[in-house]
Amino acid sequence: MSHLSSEQKQELKAALLERKQELEHHFHANGEDNALLGDSLTESTGELSSYDNHPADVGTEVFERGRDLAVNDTLQDELDQVISALQRMDRGEYGKCLECRRDIPFERLQAIPYTAYCVEHTPNRDISSDRPVEEEVMTPPPSGAGENRQRHDGRFDDADAWESVEEYGTSNTPAMAAKRDVADYDEGM
Ligand SMILES: [Zn+2]
Repeated sequence: MSHLSSEQKQELKAALLERKQELEHHFHANGEDNALLGDSLTESTGELSSYDNHPADVGTEVFERGRDLAVNDTLQDELDQVISALQRMDRGEYGKCLECRRDIPFERLQAIPYTAYCVEHTPNRDISSDRPVEEEVMTPPPSGAGENRQRHDGRFDDADAWESVEEYGTSNTPAMAAKRDVADYDEGM
């Protein structure tokens, strides 16, 4: 017997199915090029060729695609968990901790419908779905702290973005490298 009423199960199942649809739609809408960083860069920047782009444009684009890929990893992970939660539901195993077999409280299932663990046994990767524990002891920063930090430490601007994504590999040609020096010079003024 499950500790969940059939209404509660219906609610959780609906939440899981909705999330599954959202996630599947996300991957469908973005197409397969997500898996291949750089392959359709020209397409997504809307330029005919990435050769004569301002390198910082390409850098920003590469940076954002890199971030998209990291997001996709997280979403793919969530989709996997959503699907296996639905499978557990079909098998009548849903709502019990896989570790200790105890009932997972309905409130927790509402917050994270795909979870397969009680709070005590949740693997680390589940933590990101909860609010960070530090939040309970955090105090708001003094007003203006963020602005000051930005002013003193420098912005994460386009030039920095390029530097930090360069490690992903570039298709720089000597011409682009030369252009980049000019760009650096301009932006350094
Ligand atoms: Zn447990």
